[in-house]
Formats: sequence, C-alpha cells, structure tokens
Amino acid sequence: MTLNIAIIGAGPAGLTLAKLLQKATISCKVFEKDTDRYSLRNRGGSLDIHADSGQRALKEAGLFEEFKKLARPEGETLRIYSPDGTVLMDESRGDAGRPGEFVDRPEIDRTQLRNLLLDSLAPETVCWDYRLLKIHHSQENSKLTLTFANGNEEPNFDLVVGADGAWSRVRTSLSEVEPSYSGISGLACRISDVDSRFGMLSKHVGQGMCLNLGSDKGLLCQRNSDGTVQVYAFARLPNDWLTACGIDFTHPNARREVIDSLFSEYTPLQKSLVLNGDPDTVGRRLHMLPVGFEWTHNPRITLIGDAAHLMTPFAGVGVNLAMQDALDLAHTIIAKDTEPEDSSSLSVGLQKFEVGMWARAKQNAEATIMYQDLFFHKRGGVAMVEHFAKRRQEDEQKTGQSNKH
Ligand SMILES: Cc1cc2nc3c(=O)[nH]c(=O)nc-3n(C[C@H](O)[C@H](O)[C@H](O)COP(=O)(O)OP(=O)(O)OC[C@H]3O[C@@H](n4cnc5c(N)ncnc54)[C@H](O)[C@@H]3O)c2cc1C
Repeated sequence: MTLNIAIIGAGPAGLTLAKLLQKATISCKVFEKDTDRYSLRNRGGSLDIHADSGQRALKEAGLFEEFKKLARPEGETLRIYSPDGTVLMDESRGDAGRPGEFVDRPEIDRTQLRNLLLDSLAPETVCWDYRLLKIHHSQENSKLTLTFANGNEEPNFDLVVGADGAWSRVRTSLSEVEPSYSGISGLACRISDVDSRFGMLSKHVGQGMCLNLGSDKGLLCQRNSDGTVQVYAFARLPNDWLTACGIDFTHPNARREVIDSLFSEYTPLQKSLVLNGDPDTVGRRLHMLPVGFEWTHNPRITLIGDAAHLMTPFAGVGVNLAMQDALDLAHTIIAKDTEPEDSSSLSVGLQKFEVGMWARAKQNAEATIMYQDLFFHKRGGVAMVEHFAKRRQEDEQKTGQSNKH
C-alpha cells in the first residue's frame, strides 16, 4: 500500500517525520507557511536535545554524528541568581545542581536543528509559502484535498499530519479546543555579540542557562552558539497585560518600560540583560493546550508536536516530545506501508500511536506545570534550588536501596 502523505509544518516535528519516512523510502510532502528556510533567522533560541527522545530520533534518522558536531554539551549548565545578584546555584562551579535526569541534554540552536533536518531531505520535499487553510474530504474516494493561502490546491492525500505548531490549522479539523493562556507573559529579546560587547554580562550568564528568579517573575537567559544570548523577561501577569500595559513592544523603549514596571528591585547588571538587548523585541504571551487533551480519532488526519500537546517551555520538553512523536508515527506508517491495501489497518496503527502520544504528553504537561510553578514562585529561585536538592536526595535514597538488594 503506497500512501500519499502530506505533512503540514516544517518545524522539528514535521521535518523529523519527513526525514524518517524518506529514509524508509516512503515519499511525503511538507507544506510550510514560511516563505523560505531563512524566515527562522531572527527567532533564535537554544533547544536541549534529550538522550531518550530527540537524540533517539536523530540516531534513527542517521543524523546523530552531524548533530554531535553542532551540539554544545557546555550549554547544559544552569545558574540561578536571586534579584540581589546572589548566586543560589551554579552547576558550572561544581554545585550539585539538578538530579540525574537532566544529564546528557546538549544544546543546539533552533536554526541549526532546522538546517540539519532540511539539508538531509530530498530536494523539493518542502513546499515553502504554503499556508494551509482547509482540508476537504473527497466524496468519491475518501482522499483528502488541501487548500492553501497561495491559491493552490493539492489533492489525493491518504494521510495528513498536522505538525503545524501551537495554533495548528489541522487541529481545527479534529477538535474545537484551543490553547488557553498559561498566566505567563513578558518580553523576549536577545543580546548579540555578548562576549565582545558586554563582558560582565557574558560572565554573569555563563555558557548555558542563567535564571534570575524573583517573586513570580524571572529574567531567563540562554546562550546560543553564535555569541547571542536569548533573554526572556517573563512574569505571572493577567491575560490582557500585553495590550493593557500601554507598552509598545515594537519600540526600543519597551525594554526600559518592562524593567521599570516589573524588575525594579533587580541589580543594575541583571537589568542590563534586557536594557542592553538588541532593539528588536517582542511581547509574548505563553499558551498551552489542556493537560490530557485528546481528540476523536480520524483515520486520515493526525497531529504531532505542539499541534497535539502545546505546553509552556518550562520543563524543556517540547522539541523532544515533537521528535519522539515523529519517530513513533514514522514507525507506525512504515509498518503499515508494507502491508497490502488496507486503510483500516493504518487507522488501527494510528489509534495506537495516538493513545501512546497522549499518555506521554499528559505526563509531560503535568511536569511542565510543576516546573512553571517553580520558575514563577513567590519565594523566587530558592524554591527551585530546594526542589532540586529534594530530588537529588530521593535519587540517592533509591540508589542506596537498590544497592542493598
Ligand atoms: C520561548 C520558548 C522557548 C522554548 N524553549 C524550549 C527548550 O529549551 N526545549 C524544548 O524542548 N522546547 C522548547 N520550546 C518549545 C519548542 O519550541 C516547541 O515545542 C517545538 O518547536 C515544537 O515543534 P513543532 O514542530 O511541533 O512546532 P513548531 O516548531 O511550532 O513548528 C510548526 C511549523 O508549522 C508551520 N505552520 C504553522 N501553521 C501553518 C499552516 N497553517 N500551514 C503551513 N505551515 C504552518 C510554522 O511556520 C512552523 O514552521 C520553547 C518554546 C518557546 C515559545
């Protein structure tokens, strides 16, 4: 049975799936709304790729060696400061830090990961500037036709995979549920050439992640490979804060206004993480799908990645779940592709895949909410440091018990 497969979205989920299918000689098309591969250029951000999910997918895709050349194990370290500049925890100076599950999660820039996957695909796999508008079911042969914003129609698909992220258009064919506000908003900016322009800030941030956690708020920083530091000035804020606060987030003054209104008790050095940022800032409001989100199974349409289980980034699992979903769905499709013409068998496989993905997503969404509460805690970073200490102690007790047996 040769399936005609459309993947909507060229993010980590869609591109990983496309690569895994092509490796198994199953053809597919990826439709992406960005106009070209460079559209991500200014959307930076570093992603940690976990051994048991993202790295596994890259291994199966035959891209792990290339990944290792780009990955930054030194980017894994975490530093936590309080708003008076006190270091509460610093893994790079040898503090005990986070428990074992955080080990082996090297960082890669979002653009590097996208390029790694894109460059590995057959030419013409990705159709750029194809923003999906609608999916139609053909009456005659039960195949799917896709309508795009550029005026094109693409007919005859057996399977459409929605890998189209937070505000998935494909999801609207399966459910009326929409993401809701997570309670966290703020400003995102970045400091380019930090080492040569702002040596003190570079030292403050270190090589990995640097969290400056106050009461219900934080200046969250992540170093990228190109000497840029990504900075998020986030806090627990009402749903309408972005529009009601009166700050024009496209104006260079936005950085000063956010610092003065939300982070006035921070040290001058910490404030300069935002004040020295490049002028192109964005206001952000973080959303999530309900924990345990599921949809009624459709034999021809499914979802992976953020489209299936949007979470806030505070457990650092989004891209890893996206790549794990892609891996599991690829296995499902590959197993069915070798069988004789039997669409019900694909449907059974898809259902099993979805049930597994939903269970994994639920568990990770619960962990994400727990970590979000630690990032934005009344007692600031102390609560997170205490959490890690407790978890390490529990791990040690478990190891001690298993050594006795
Ligand atoms: C501030 C922030 C920091 C984060 N940090 C981390 C981290 O450290 N670790 C981690 O694991 N995760 C992190 N995440 C989450 C991670 O970015 C996502 O979970 C991951 O990108 C999901 O991949 P995806 O392919 O499902 O979706 P996306 O990366 O969103 O890709 C979806 C693609 O679909 C395209 N698209 C959308 N609509 C359409 C349409 N109608 N037609 C065609 N194409 C369409 C989009 O242009 C995009 O290219 C972070 C997220 C945010 C917001």
